[in-house]
Amino acid sequence: MLSSGSGGNATYISSGKSALLVDSGLSCRELERRLAQIDTDPGSIDAIAITHEHVDHVAGVLPLSSRYEIPVHASAGTVRESPLRSHLDRINKLKASAPFTAGCLEVVPFPVPHDAAEPIGFTVSDGAVKVGVATDLGSQTLEVLASLAESDVVLLESNHDVEMLIDGPYPWFVKERIASPLGHLSNEDAADLIRAIRHAGLRHLVLVHLSETNNDPAITLESARKALGRKGAGVEISLGWQHRVGDTIVLD
Ligand SMILES: [Zn+2]
Ligand SMILES: [Zn+2]
Repeated sequence: MLSSGSGGNATYISSGKSALLVDSGLSCRELERRLAQIDTDPGSIDAIAITHEHVDHVAGVLPLSSRYEIPVHASAGTVRESPLRSHLDRINKLKASAPFTAGCLEVVPFPVPHDAAEPIGFTVSDGAVKVGVATDLGSQTLEVLASLAESDVVLLESNHDVEMLIDGPYPWFVKERIASPLGHLSNEDAADLIRAIRHAGLRHLVLVHLSETNNDPAITLESARKALGRKGAGVEISLGWQHRVGDTIVLD
């Protein structure tokens, strides 16, 4: 995770040969700086896949894709509602469930429930390892569960602690939006989803899009660890951070 949270999101996934960036919600300069920290040249990215049009996911897409000539993949709804619509020559419009490739990576988009025009999550596979990315979703659906099934690595939203959200400083209409089935997953919601998708092949869980106001990383970690239970004792858990690059997860 190069960055995670309402201040900007970007996830770098590489097979060694091919690389995909999921979302680019940081300025181009900041994204270049964070990629440099993981010794990665932005020009080596094969494609950028966008989950939805909220500014914390698209802010830096156009400058990055034009400077390094990186193709962008986004749903028709995301394109329509974002600055991407004025640069259609660079955008591949994707449809949920229709796979596309980024170099030798196969990317499969799937719909997620969120208050955006046509929000999606992705699974990414090089044929050996499957990574599931589900961020910014207000609830789980059968389609989300089916898409994330059998993943080696899952990046999952764990946005807020319900009590902290209720007691916190946000106005009520914002609290209701966040807690709604089209908002963001709470730690409890994420735990339910983890219980539904845990399996013997799951190796790493990355909890992302944590609210800096309405969550506590210690609560998030404990909730996920409990949800994994004894069967998931071998699963490594890490967090995505807003102000620094997260741990690099290496899978052999
Ligand atoms: Zn977001
Ligand atoms: Zn969003």
